[in-house]
Amino acid sequence: MQKNFTKLENFGHSLSAPSYLIQPTTIDEINEAFALAKKSGLAISARGAGRSYNDAALIGGGIILDMQGMNAITEWDSATGLITAQPGVTLEQVWQKVEPDGWWPPVVSGTMTTTLGGCLAANVHGKNNFKVGPIGEHVVEFTAILPTGAEITCSQKKNGDLFYSMISGFGMLGIFTSVTMQMKRIYSGLLSVDAQPSRNLHEHLTSLLDDAPNYDYIVGWLDGTAGGKSLGRGQIHAARYLNEGEDPNPQETMKLSNQMLPPRIFGVIPKSLLHYFMSPFVNNLGVWAVNTAKYIASLPKHTFRESHAAFHFLLDYVPDWEYAYGRGGLIEYQSFVPKETAEDAWKEMLQLSLRTGLPTYLGVTKRHRPDKFLLTHAVDGFSLAMDFKVTDNNRVKLGSMLQEFDRIVLQAGGKFYFAKNSETTAETAQAFYGKETIAKFKKLKKRCDPHGLLESDLYRRIFG
Ligand SMILES: Cc1cc2nc3c(=O)[nH]c(=O)nc-3n(C[C@H](O)[C@H](O)[C@H](O)COP(=O)(O)OP(=O)(O)OC[C@H]3O[C@@H](n4cnc5c(N)ncnc54)[C@H](O)[C@@H]3O)c2cc1C
Repeated sequence: MQKNFTKLENFGHSLSAPSYLIQPTTIDEINEAFALAKKSGLAISARGAGRSYNDAALIGGGIILDMQGMNAITEWDSATGLITAQPGVTLEQVWQKVEPDGWWPPVVSGTMTTTLGGCLAANVHGKNNFKVGPIGEHVVEFTAILPTGAEITCSQKKNGDLFYSMISGFGMLGIFTSVTMQMKRIYSGLLSVDAQPSRNLHEHLTSLLDDAPNYDYIVGWLDGTAGGKSLGRGQIHAARYLNEGEDPNPQETMKLSNQMLPPRIFGVIPKSLLHYFMSPFVNNLGVWAVNTAKYIASLPKHTFRESHAAFHFLLDYVPDWEYAYGRGGLIEYQSFVPKETAEDAWKEMLQLSLRTGLPTYLGVTKRHRPDKFLLTHAVDGFSLAMDFKVTDNNRVKLGSMLQEFDRIVLQAGGKFYFAKNSETTAETAQAFYGKETIAKFKKLKKRCDPHGLLESDLYRRIFG
C-alpha cells in the first residue's frame, strides 16, 4: 500500500492541509489503513473528489483515504432502475450510464464531479429538494466498513440508526464501500424550463414558495450586488420533466452526445481557458456589470427546453472556474432558513454585505423540506448560497461579517451545511442541532469508532 505525503486543498482553494495520501482499491486496503492509523496514532479521513467547499475532506497531519480508486459500477438493471456502485464512482459516471436507458439520478449536486461516497456522506440536495428530499432518501442499501473492522449493510429497515446517521455523517462513523440506489424514470433527454425574473427579495422568495409545487425542480439566481428597491432581485428557473409522448424523439434527446456539455465556448475558445477570461471580472465592479447585464437579459418571462446535464451542471461549463477568484480562493456561505423568517434574515445579511463592501459574487436560492437524517441541514424553507472572494486584505473583515451572518441565521431558526461553510463553530452547531442530536451522534461515534480514528478538520472544528 503506497503512502505519499502531500498538500491537499478544499474546492475553493482557500484552505490546505498536509497529509499522508492512501488510495485503497479494496476493503482489505481500507482495513490496513485503519490498522496503520491506529499503530501510528494518526487520524484518518475519507476523501471523494474533494469538492466540499470547506475542510470536510481535509485532515492536517493525518491520513487521507482517497476513495476515487474504488470507482466501478458493479450492477445496472435498466428494467428496474436499480444501480449498485463503489463509492468513488462520480455522478458523471452514473448519469452517463443510466440516461441512455431512460433514467436519471433522483438527486444531483450542482457539479457532476462529486463521488457517491461524498454525496452520501454530505447527504446532498438538488434543485428538487422540496419534492424528493436529499440523496439519502433514494438509497436502497449501502455497505460500509467501520474502524472496528466490522463490515455492515444498512437500509432504512436494517441497521436503521446507522443508515440515518452515516448518510449525513460526513465520513465520521465509517467508510462507504458500496451503494445501491433507485434511479428516476424519464421520457426525454430534455426538461421544460420556465425562466422568470424577480424584482426583489420578496418577489424572489414568493416565487420559490408558490411555484415549487407546480414543478419538479426550482432554483433561483440572486444578484448580490443590487441594493435599495432591487435588493434580492434575480431570476427563477423552474423545470419539469416531459411526460411520455411529449418528446417526439426521446431516443435522440437521451443520447449522450446530445447531453454532453460542449468542449468549446462559441465553438472556438476551449472551456479550460475560460476561467482566465473571467478573472478580470471577479471584483465588485465587474460582478455588478455582469449581474446587471444578466438581469436585463433575463427579462421577460420565457420558456425553453434544456438537456438534463445543462440544467443541472451549469457550473461544470467552465472547468476550474474557482481559479478565477485568484490566489486567496473563495468560500461559500450557505444558510437554510425557515420560510417564515428567511426574507427578514436575508434582507439583513444582503444589506450588511453591501455596507461592508463585500457583496456575494454568486447567490443561489433553493426551496427545501425537512428530512429524517441525523445531521440534516434542511428546513421547511429556503437556502441561500453565497460565494465570497478571499484576499489577504478582506480576510478579517469577511470573517467578522460571516460571524454576524451566523448570529442572524441562528436568530431566524436557521441551519448550516457541513459541506459548505468553513466558519461554523461547535457552539453554533450545538445551537442549531440541539444538545440531544449532538449527544446522539457522539454516542454513535463511540460505538462505531471506539478509538476515535476517523477525524477530519471539520470534525475537529465541530466535535473535537
Ligand atoms: C460546484 C459545486 C456545486 C455543488 N452543488 C451542490 C448542491 O447542489 N447540493 C449539495 O448538497 N452540495 C453541493 N456541492 C457540495 C458537494 O456536493 C459536497 O461537498 C459533496 O460531499 C462533495 O463530494 P466529493 O466526492 O467531492 O466529497 P469530498 O468533498 O471529497 O468529501 C466530502 C465528505 O464525504 C466524506 N466521504 C467521501 N467519501 C467517503 C466514503 N467512501 N465513505 C465515507 N465518507 C466519505 C469525506 O470524509 C467528507 O467528509 C457542490 C460543490 C461544488 C464544488
